[in-house]
Amino acid sequence: MSDKRDYYEVLGVAKEADATELKKAFRSLARKYHPDKNDAPDADEKFKEIQEAYAVLSDNDKRRNYDRFGHNGPGGSPFGPGGFQGFNINLDDILGGDFFSSMFGGRSSRSSRQQGNDILIRHEIDLVSVLEGGKEELEIDLPATCSDCEGTGAKDGVTTQCNECDGVGQVRVRQQIGPFVQDSVRACQYCQGSGRTYASKCKSCSGDGIQSESQVLRFSIPKGAQEGTRLRMRGKGQPAPQGRGAAGDLFIELIIEEHPWFERNGMDLIMSLPLGFTALALGSSVVLPHIDGKDLVIKIPSGTNSGDTITIDARGLPSSRGIGRGDVVILCKLHMPKKFDKGTKKALEDLRMNLDGKTEMMDKIIADAKDRRN
Ligand SMILES: [Zn+2]
Ligand SMILES: [Zn+2]
Repeated sequence: MSDKRDYYEVLGVAKEADATELKKAFRSLARKYHPDKNDAPDADEKFKEIQEAYAVLSDNDKRRNYDRFGHNGPGGSPFGPGGFQGFNINLDDILGGDFFSSMFGGRSSRSSRQQGNDILIRHEIDLVSVLEGGKEELEIDLPATCSDCEGTGAKDGVTTQCNECDGVGQVRVRQQIGPFVQDSVRACQYCQGSGRTYASKCKSCSGDGIQSESQVLRFSIPKGAQEGTRLRMRGKGQPAPQGRGAAGDLFIELIIEEHPWFERNGMDLIMSLPLGFTALALGSSVVLPHIDGKDLVIKIPSGTNSGDTITIDARGLPSSRGIGRGDVVILCKLHMPKKFDKGTKKALEDLRMNLDGKTEMMDKIIADAKDRRN
């Protein structure tokens, strides 16, 4: 009998596993046991075992044979007299490009794509800006192409063709990884994929090609702007590396400043208004300066309950498309003082009988409670 472990067991899959499941299992195990990533002394052996299992199970003929005879099939090893010696599959394809680029510590050809990074800044605006929109101006330090070297990072901008890659910026690498031969193209590390090198660094930017520069940004706040709205300024982000290629974009994320009494609910503005007993009982009028520059006149009708709302039409915020206006909704709350002076207390005592006697609701509750007891 062979002392080999069952191939299905090696990959940790069921006997019925399909090609996708096999590939998935192989991928995660190969990532784990790849000798370049795993320092364990048996990683090499493990990796070979995983490859062998995958080589057999991913081949329909070999798999059928294995299912029937196990490791002791007629004619010996399915790989011929020498046994398993590795096989030709594109590891990069199976493991994904990131695997090797992160393993080699180099920049993958994908990340050397010549585009600067995007930048995100946050900017606070108040409800008046949300209501009316408007122009904003912001002075801010942003990364910009170094003017002394034009972004090349070279002293006086003088560069020469990279000898390592003949100015192509990429090199072909052949690697032996266990039984695999891996051919790949990656960015030339000598010139960081730019194809150009230089003898001495630019002093102004220490060779980064990027300098911080104070800039004035001018942008418009759209009417009805929401919290988290992002305004995009194309090409205002980080310049491309070595000054070759497009700069990234700058995003301005809008934060809405908290208002002392309004809360925003879509297009509506909601506020809680504390009122005394008499204001609620007898009616009252409150005047507040409003964000639209005109006074907000709140008329509290007599007999208003704590918790009632009063809606003032079309004095809220515009929609996110800048159209129309929502309402102002006022939640009336009874403000009950903790203490009264002697005179007020006496006056309230005189009113007690009069007012409490008219709480029909309470009388009904008490009557109901008595009924239930009987
Ligand atoms: Zn420079
Ligand atoms: Zn190079």
